[in-house]
Amino acid sequence: MMKKNRRAAARVEGGTADAKRRGGVPLLVLLAGLLLALPGMVAAQDLPLTGAERANWERTTTHAEVMEFLWEVQSRTDQMLVQELTVTNEGRPHPVVFLGDPPLSEPTAALLSGKPTLFIVGTIHGNERSGKEGGQQFIRELTLGDHQDLLEHVNVIIVPHMNPDGGDAGRRTNSLGYDMNRDWIVAETREVTAVVEQILNRFAPDVFVDAHNGGSYPYHMTYQATLDPTADDALVEYARGPMYEFIKDHMETQDMMMYWYSGPSFDEDNETWYWRTTVPWPRKQHSYGGIRNMITLLYEVPGRHTLEVQADAAREAMLGLTRFMAENADQVRDVVIEARRRTVEEPQDEVYFDLEPIAYPDA
Ligand SMILES: [Zn+2]
Repeated sequence: MMKKNRRAAARVEGGTADAKRRGGVPLLVLLAGLLLALPGMVAAQDLPLTGAERANWERTTTHAEVMEFLWEVQSRTDQMLVQELTVTNEGRPHPVVFLGDPPLSEPTAALLSGKPTLFIVGTIHGNERSGKEGGQQFIRELTLGDHQDLLEHVNVIIVPHMNPDGGDAGRRTNSLGYDMNRDWIVAETREVTAVVEQILNRFAPDVFVDAHNGGSYPYHMTYQATLDPTADDALVEYARGPMYEFIKDHMETQDMMMYWYSGPSFDEDNETWYWRTTVPWPRKQHSYGGIRNMITLLYEVPGRHTLEVQADAAREAMLGLTRFMAENADQVRDVVIEARRRTVEEPQDEVYFDLEPIAYPDA
């Protein structure tokens, strides 16, 4: 049914013949040399694999393996910088990855580059593994794979594993029991605090994505823009219009389907299909990103897919978005800059409610 993307198994040609050796060498010697060189030429050099790929998708990648993978990819490219944002309560490193041509880990340099900045968080809920698995593959694709051209046009910042303690425990919350996708306003957890202070406050990314598991099968990706009712209309319309259409089309080229979060649900009592979304609590990423004037997306991959397909879906939705930003780099920047300008220059001095005056009926 699914045309699997086999880039995970992509290989780099190794042992290329030395052209200089060929010139002027007698044929017999050349043939003998080729035969001797053959094993090296045929043996392909593997790209770094994630823990889940090495385990043939029978388990998720441990956080220690995520770290190994990041260091390994970084050692093979000059387009990636890994830094540690903080240390979790249980002592695990909490990494952030800067990707770019060149990778820019200073906000001034990122701003002066003129390129839009994409910021992705994966697996803030530790038992929702698609963001972590797809995020690692996304990093490999941009730096060593078939999408290296994208970094000429976009700065990417990604925290591939936002919840290292919860991830290793297979648990939604961090080790203190905190659902960190309810912590964006108060920022009580050290993981969210580190991201807010070191990434959001300093880099003010243009696009902010949070990658979860959820939504409805058989869709591969369910998508939502910010539900913050005070968000700038242009940010919302852009995410719901051209951005959505582009990513959806990209998913279709990979034989995957995308739909609005949370997709169709079935009401057992009334035996009817219905569609629902989620609540616009400011403390959730998708609302908070709207408050912060970022184009904000929620990615939810239905957990009924195999882990391998979940990773495919998350990776391709990240790649599709990055491709959109690369092809529309100036437009993305303009949409965000204009929204931020309006916030400063055109503040709303009146707020209209169309609600009945229920709370104070005698007023
Ligand atoms: Zn979640």
